[in-house]
Amino acid sequence: MQLRYSFRLYPNGPQRSALAQAFGCARVVYNDALRARETARAAGEAFPKTGELSKLLITEAKKTDERAWLGDVSAVVLQQSLRDLDTAYRNFFDGLGGRRPRMGTPRFKSRKDNRQAVRFTANARWKITAGGALSFPKIGDVRVKWSRSLPSVPSTVTVVKDAAGRYFASFVVETAPDETLPGTDAVVGIDLGLTHFAILSDGTKIDAPRFLRRAEKKLKKAQRNLSRKAKGSNNRDKARIKVARAHARVADARREFHHQLSTKVIRENQAVAVEDLAVKGLARTRLAKSVHDAGWASFVAMLEYKAALYGRTFIRIGRFEPTSQVCCACGTKDGPRPLHVRVWECRGCGTVLDRDINAAVNVAKAAGLAVSACGARVRPVRVPAQRVEAGTHRDGRPTVVGIPGL
Ligand SMILES: [Zn+2]
Repeated sequence: MQLRYSFRLYPNGPQRSALAQAFGCARVVYNDALRARETARAAGEAFPKTGELSKLLITEAKKTDERAWLGDVSAVVLQQSLRDLDTAYRNFFDGLGGRRPRMGTPRFKSRKDNRQAVRFTANARWKITAGGALSFPKIGDVRVKWSRSLPSVPSTVTVVKDAAGRYFASFVVETAPDETLPGTDAVVGIDLGLTHFAILSDGTKIDAPRFLRRAEKKLKKAQRNLSRKAKGSNNRDKARIKVARAHARVADARREFHHQLSTKVIRENQAVAVEDLAVKGLARTRLAKSVHDAGWASFVAMLEYKAALYGRTFIRIGRFEPTSQVCCACGTKDGPRPLHVRVWECRGCGTVLDRDINAAVNVAKAAGLAVSACGARVRPVRVPAQRVEAGTHRDGRPTVVGIPGL
């Protein structure tokens, strides 16, 4: 199985300039090739092949005065840029052919894009030095923070600069063949809610952790601050960088939270079921913000790959299962309920159900998992009063009314 690993890079001043030059040259070659192809397409001419473009826009261009500086960067980086354009066109044509979601023609890249990247393949002779730095041709040995170990030796590395000005080395590697966890009997259904980040069929409700909420609060503050700065001022530029950094921190914190939660869920359960939410459909409604903020798609993707990695079962149930309309205790189907109704009593069996947990139990059941409906009950079933008066709070906490022996 292939996984992507990213590590923070700390290039020094000259290395940052060299990387900026590599990003720039890769971008120019990409844009030149895109222009050549779009011109040919508009004129109804044959689509220029990658080999031809490589010769014309890299080899020949280096000999001209206007593009002589292409010779200052690794040729592999420029070749890979043409490959990226190929991929972009393939995706575009596959979209037209209905083999994947439809998308626009490849776009020109800009110096102002949030993400700048160059890729080095084995041909570029990049390497990990004895001192643990990453050595790139025409850039030098760049310091790396190896936050975890690589399961195998990668052949390709992508160097990325993000909107916050941070650099990363990103590898795609084969994972070790067997990381299967010992078996367990527990299974779980997950409902990805609006009131909580996730609700498990055992009744656990999970909210975003404090470190994520704090990062989000700081981002909001930075955004407010930016909106108050005059356009074109130096202070506005500074505030914009602060917003980009805060954005990056929120993204990191969210990824960390998704990793922690998905690892825990996969470790503790043999099978995990989630509802295939048409996030794209939901995103068009007014719920858009919370859908995107919660980042369900990335969390579900983590569950899926970790299940595969650790030998667990991952089940995605159809998006049209009416999980919130059916009583998980007796199966009685009630009509749709407005979102503000959090608790209701089943007409069939009288169980008082928590909307979110009921949905999570139904997700598990629809996936064929044997889970109990107990977690979804809001109040325990009434039992005849005992000799020693023990009462029950509405929230299910027992309270002793009479104290025996006194
Ligand atoms: Zn019922």
